[in-house]
Amino acid sequence: MPEKQQFEASPESKAKAKQFRLFALLAWLVAIAGQVFAILKLIGDETLVYLIIAIVVILILAITGSTLWKKANRLDPASEKDKIKFFIQNQFGAIMGVLAFLPLVILIFMNKDVDSKTKGIAGSIAVIAMLIAGISGIDFNPPSIEQYTEQINQQTDIVRLLNYDNDSVYWTQSGNRYHVFEDCQHIRGREGITNGTVELSWEEKGISELCRTCQARAMRERNISEMDLEIPDSEIEEIIEE
Ligand SMILES: [Zn+2]
Repeated sequence: MPEKQQFEASPESKAKAKQFRLFALLAWLVAIAGQVFAILKLIGDETLVYLIIAIVVILILAITGSTLWKKANRLDPASEKDKIKFFIQNQFGAIMGVLAFLPLVILIFMNKDVDSKTKGIAGSIAVIAMLIAGISGIDFNPPSIEQYTEQINQQTDIVRLLNYDNDSVYWTQSGNRYHVFEDCQHIRGREGITNGTVELSWEEKGISELCRTCQARAMRERNISEMDLEIPDSEIEEIIEE
């Protein structure tokens, strides 16, 4: 049985993830600064339009932050072993999204100097913005080192079946597919084709999958049926053991 692979993000992936996280933090910092400004200067009957504009800008910043944060987690995921860290790292975008609006929402409704119409409009827009920021920040499918490791091992088994027990594949920097054939139509003639194991493609690019065209071609040329690919032997053993 071939040895099991263990995912560990490449130094380049870690560096890129760090950069995404820094930009995310920066976006949230500006969003919070915008919120403080809105609280101090824009809660009023005359400034309602500016308050709404500020809410929209804060919302864009919050969503930008959580999008970058999720990207970073896909390159350099957390381990499931530490449940608390895993939760916070993956749902940090949702937490920041709510924090970018919650104080503003409370202070709009508590303000005694604005009339009830202003309060109703500004308050409901701020609540909707908070919900959008919070929900879009939730990671519904949080990546983990363990999940990546499992995927890599499953995919490596399949590639070995397709490729004469060899897990050497090809990929380009753009896109998330890797290829069994160097002359596959999707990468033929492209600059900067990398050759390496399935594991390496995950470690350098995050989530990766086998090119469908290459899979179909390998199955056709090498007489491999769907059934051969369904569940690799090593996994059947695992299921029996459980
Ligand atoms: Zn291909």
